[in-house]
Amino acid sequence: MVLQAAPFLIAVCIAIAADTPVSLSRPDGGLIALFVAVSTILASACVSVGLGTWLLTMARRKSWTPAQLRMGLLRTTFVLCFFNLAAFAALTHLGGWPDFVRYGLGLRKMIVAERFVIVAPFILMDVLGWLGMFPVARNCRLIMTSRGWHYYIVMRARETYGAVLPAAIIFWAGNDIARLLVGDLTKQPWVQMVVLAVLGTVIVLISPALLKLSFPTRSMPPGPLRTRLEGVARNLKFRFSDFLIWETEGSVFNARLTGVLPGYRYVLFTDALITHLDDDEIAAIFGHELGHVYHGHYTVLALFCLGSLAILALVAQGIDGVFRVIQGGSNTSSVIDITKLVLMLAAVGVYFRLAFGAVSRTLERQADVYGCKSVSCVTENCIHSTGWPRLASSPGLGPNICRMGIKTYSDALRTVAVENQVDLEKPSWRHGSIGSRMRFLANLDSHPENEWRFQDGVIRVRLLVGMSFLLLFVFALVTGAFEYLRSI
Ligand SMILES: [Zn+2]
Ligand SMILES: [Zn+2]
Repeated sequence: MVLQAAPFLIAVCIAIAADTPVSLSRPDGGLIALFVAVSTILASACVSVGLGTWLLTMARRKSWTPAQLRMGLLRTTFVLCFFNLAAFAALTHLGGWPDFVRYGLGLRKMIVAERFVIVAPFILMDVLGWLGMFPVARNCRLIMTSRGWHYYIVMRARETYGAVLPAAIIFWAGNDIARLLVGDLTKQPWVQMVVLAVLGTVIVLISPALLKLSFPTRSMPPGPLRTRLEGVARNLKFRFSDFLIWETEGSVFNARLTGVLPGYRYVLFTDALITHLDDDEIAAIFGHELGHVYHGHYTVLALFCLGSLAILALVAQGIDGVFRVIQGGSNTSSVIDITKLVLMLAAVGVYFRLAFGAVSRTLERQADVYGCKSVSCVTENCIHSTGWPRLASSPGLGPNICRMGIKTYSDALRTVAVENQVDLEKPSWRHGSIGSRMRFLANLDSHPENEWRFQDGVIRVRLLVGMSFLLLFVFALVTGAFEYLRSI
């Protein structure tokens, strides 16, 4: 979801960077800008149709397998995405599109509308791109293509924009309303922080609705699996709204928990997960998701993002400083703005890949341990040591991880890897490779005392990260670095 939304978020950043009006007094009311916009959108559509046709021709000539075609589609989609972003950047920074929206259409300072219409050409290019690529997607039997192009486009739109667009609209509306209410005070970093915190909270609270908008889901029907999962939830005192089955035409193995309010949150399991895992394994995966809640991982990640904002603000300040030195004070051309933006995005990418990856992998391991515990024996001594059948284990959170708990959870991981045709050692920056996760759990089976060492380590890392982020946050606030996030 985050990955699909990334191009849109970049487009929003590009539009923000074009915030400074360049040609306020354009006499033609910006009709040329409108013409440029329409031409850009048409050009993008032609490029997508061209790339799609080229791919299909290549596939036919070289007898590609569906898998090869899929790889080709993935690469071409990247190329198209870059083309669209570049075209959108040219449209907003050189084509005068934002001015046309503000002055030609008279949407200046109009709540949400101004910002939405400015990024609308990018959304249109994106949708037309899916349409242009649809014949290729259907040929490599991509999911959601079997029911025709309208269904495919609607599903792609839900997946890509279902969460991020409502979130962006809330964000824009909040900022616009804050500007109306307190005027120039919104330029103060602390006011921005308050607005950001309030809007962030609103988005988190309504996230279950956003998730339902993004993915096709249905309530899990009553039956042994539902009863089993309800048992785990009861044992772990976890309150929720519903278990949902997420329809992916059997192609995705995933479970997800969404929402922070006990009375309004969902637990999602994909259809493939339910088909290929037994009830105990699904309970273990559910336990993993509950582990994230029990250990307060969502709070950790929220604080991490806040701290990261401070770090990025400081980086932005640094980049701005370097450019000031290079240019000797003048710092306003749009080429420079775009260069700064690109540098900033590169920094964001590297930072998240490294820092977020490391934190996320540790938290995932902690959730893995919890997943094992949720299907382990509740008694001090494991009843499985003599080889009891797995289903005899009572769902619960025992004081120790039991051998069968580890086996159940590891079996689930292995099945997911096999069914996904993922190599056990394939690295994953957010979760770590499945092989390394299984080895870590096997080690806990032979050396149970290592669990407490691990848990202590996690607490230490959390404290260290928390303290340094707090310090950096205060430092960024005091030095006014957050101002630079706006200017970049
Ligand atoms: Zn997880
Ligand atoms: Zn046991």
